[in-house]
Amino acid sequence: MDDCIFCKIARGEIPSKKIYEDEHVFAFHDINPIAPVHFLIIPKAHVPSLYECEPENEAALGRVLALTGRLAREQGATDGFRSIINTGRVGRQEVYHVHVHVIGGPDVLPGMLKR
Ligand code: 5GP
Ligand code: ZN
Repeated sequence: MDDCIFCKIARGEIPSKKIYEDEHVFAFHDINPIAPVHFLIIPKAHVPSLYECEPENEAALGRVLALTGRLAREQGATDGFRSIINTGRVGRQEVYHVHVHVIGGPDVLPGMLKR
């Protein structure tokens, strides 16, 4: 997608603090971190949200998920982390290129959601 900010980041057209890249996946630090460790992992293919995943996206999305632990550890989140995918209006998704937030650091996370 020409006007997608995360596609532009994956193509290197917008600068980012890259932490990982391969053929299908790109990972970079969140510009506005909410914890000492906060980075995003995206498929390079433009998938707007989890609503639009197609079978051909499964390999890249699997790799995105499979990389979370390794990259979290490399970034210093060695005692756990949270991975979050916000989807759509109710999920408060802001950037419509699917991404996994990896959030961690020493004892920074609250419990899950309030009941
Ligand atoms: P969402 O609410 O869509 O799950 O989260 C989007 C995330 O992307 C936010 O945490 C926001 O800080 C991050 N973000 C938005 N624009 C940029 C950008 O240009 N560069 C980087 N590195 N992160 C961005
Ligand atoms: Zn995109």
